Amino acid sequence: MSTDSGAAPEIPKTCKAGVVVNEGPDFHLKVEDVPVPSPGPNDILIKLNATGICYSDIHYMLNDLPIPKMSFFNVRSPGHEGAGTVVQLGSNVTNWKLGDRAGIKPAYDACLNCELCWTGKETYCPDSPQIGLQFPGSYQQYVLSPARYTQRIPDGVDDFTAGPIMCSGSTVYCSLKESGLKPGDWAVFPGAGGGVGHMGVQIAKAMGMRVVGVDGGADKEKLCKELGCEAFVDFTKVDDVAEEVVAICDGKGAHGVFVTATSASAYASAPMMCRISGKVMCIGLPPSGTAMAGADPLLFVGKNLHVIGTKVGSMYDTMKALEFAARGQLKPIYEVFPLAKMPEAVDKLKKGIVAGRLVVDFNS
Ligand SMILES: [Zn+2]
Ligand SMILES: [Zn+2]
Repeated sequence: MSTDSGAAPEIPKTCKAGVVVNEGPDFHLKVEDVPVPSPGPNDILIKLNATGICYSDIHYMLNDLPIPKMSFFNVRSPGHEGAGTVVQLGSNVTNWKLGDRAGIKPAYDACLNCELCWTGKETYCPDSPQIGLQFPGSYQQYVLSPARYTQRIPDGVDDFTAGPIMCSGSTVYCSLKESGLKPGDWAVFPGAGGGVGHMGVQIAKAMGMRVVGVDGGADKEKLCKELGCEAFVDFTKVDDVAEEVVAICDGKGAHGVFVTATSASAYASAPMMCRISGKVMCIGLPPSGTAMAGADPLLFVGKNLHVIGTKVGSMYDTMKALEFAARGQLKPIYEVFPLAKMPEAVDKLKKGIVAGRLVVDFNS
């Protein structure tokens, strides 16, 4: 291990971690002491100050996705929205120093030596495992990360802001980028008041798009207008949401519909909201098998529709999203929970009673 002599922080033997108990439909989360891992030659050890709680964590703990479960990989702590500082370096690591700020995002690593990795699509690389599923995640205060693929957190972005951007902010930035929408184009967000949607609204606005929020209730409307939505469609008040959206967007429809909601109805109405050559961007993940993205081929042919899915953000996407935050154009809305109340935060998200994001403070 290489350290700046004397400057190295003391590494405890154990640390706190939120761990899943009874993985499956009736899981619960418990905070307990776990061993602090030692970095391999190419790893860094990060001491996290904050972690966001993402619905993917709930999926992993519920084990309701068609993928191997956490216990298959001997992992008990989910989490992929961490922010903290580097406290220990592997023997080969030269590009990080102790005290550098570092973040945990969903993709743990990538081969960095294939066509996907060379073209900024490294999150699709077959050698890109998920942290919090295949490796212990950011619910554990001391976590390992490969030095070559760890995200740097820029100045001006605190850890509570950086956490949620690691997953939702960078994911929705990636979708906006891949949509090819231009300044002045109409961007519509079904689920605009949610954890991903409210960041998408802000980034789209900063990119110069005209933003329409779709969500339910007066609170969501207020939030969406404050964040930059030019118009808001309340699905609890309007008979035909798509018709209303089309009317707002010059009577022609949206250039892009960014489906951050996870309901089948949001996906079903998205193609109807599009203008000719419009793009339906798939972001929100409904439980496997419960929704379809698309429409009658006649509509696709007649409207030159595009349906495009994007996964989590790449290293580049995450950097760009963090830069919006550093410039003050992206401010995730979050509620902070002390570490001891991590199980409560998880339970709240599992029940779906969350506005914005939940972030756990490891130091309180
Ligand atoms: Zn996530
Ligand atoms: Zn690769």
